[in-house]
Amino acid sequence: MSKIFITRKIDDAVIDELRKSFDVEVWDSEDQAVPRDVLLKQAKESHALFTMLSDQIDKELLSDAPHLKVVANMAVGYDNIDVQAAEKAGIIVTNTPDVLTDTTADLAFSLILATARRIPEAAGYIKEGNWTSWSPYLLAGRDVHHKTLGIIGMGKIGQAVAKRAAGFDMNILYHTRSRKTEAEEQFGAQYKSLSDLLEKSDFVLVLAPLTEETRGMIGAEQLRSMKDSAIFINVGRGPVVDEKALIDALKNGEIAGAGLDVFEKEPISKDHPLLSMKNVVAVPHIGSASTETRFIMMKLAADNIKAVLNGEKPLTKVSV
Ligand code: NAP
Repeated sequence: MSKIFITRKIDDAVIDELRKSFDVEVWDSEDQAVPRDVLLKQAKESHALFTMLSDQIDKELLSDAPHLKVVANMAVGYDNIDVQAAEKAGIIVTNTPDVLTDTTADLAFSLILATARRIPEAAGYIKEGNWTSWSPYLLAGRDVHHKTLGIIGMGKIGQAVAKRAAGFDMNILYHTRSRKTEAEEQFGAQYKSLSDLLEKSDFVLVLAPLTEETRGMIGAEQLRSMKDSAIFINVGRGPVVDEKALIDALKNGEIAGAGLDVFEKEPISKDHPLLSMKNVVAVPHIGSASTETRFIMMKLAADNIKAVLNGEKPLTKVSV
């Protein structure tokens, strides 16, 4: 019987379905990632790995996994996997695109609103008993409607955010490797060079994947070129922005604020300088975290494993 190792506690219904046909072992913790030595040992014995974005599936692991046929990542991003090395070893890699698009776009738009309108700060203010009187500029933020949103990485999620932004009468700019004529027609989005987008946007939103090309794409120079009233939002991957440069830009008033779902190193430490800044709204990589969507992602990852182990085509294969 083929063996599947699942690197985190997932929904019992998904595990039970897999158990009907396969030998399934689970790292049974919801909040602790599987230790590296356990993962390596399991990779050696398993035919399939059901992985999270916090698991490093690298050359070391792939070179000592003689039975491994498929790595099914429960995420659309797959920068935690050496896909080239997997392909070389004849191991299929799958991800979970599409099913998380709207949920992640909702979170991205929430971060735009929460940062611009200072929602976490205002919620803390009232809970701490600081509200003694109404005043004209009490916790006044910035408007979102009719402002300019620049989207870096206008893929599925980027376009779903553009749809939301059009409803807020925003002017939409975007930057990708290829033009998205459909988004231009549907939402009036305009294609811009990265430098143009950074200069003209009131909100800059990163939704590009982490690749060798995008790593450090937003550094000191790019942040300096943004408006000093601009808000920077990252829902893509942490290392796309140079975090030290971001901290400096926020401290020096080169930009007005940031809304962050992803970080250079996750989990971010409690005493990280970004967490003590009033103009930063930080959330712990919850882009696709609705119970409905997470369940659908689990199901899709499991279906990909089932297909490969049954000798069929996976539903959502990653290729490089
Ligand atoms: P997608 O449809 O593949 O879109 C990715 C977009 O990024 C594409 O439009 C691509 O452009 C663009 N891109 C790639 N390299 C670029 C570069 N060097 N410069 C500018 N643009 C570039 O993927 P998606 O489903 O929208 O997801 C996008 C990313 O969001 C994922 O890879 C993941 O890292 C992140 N994500 C985060 C969360 C979260 O919880 N925070 C949840 C889901 C996804 P082309 O079309 O021209 O190739």
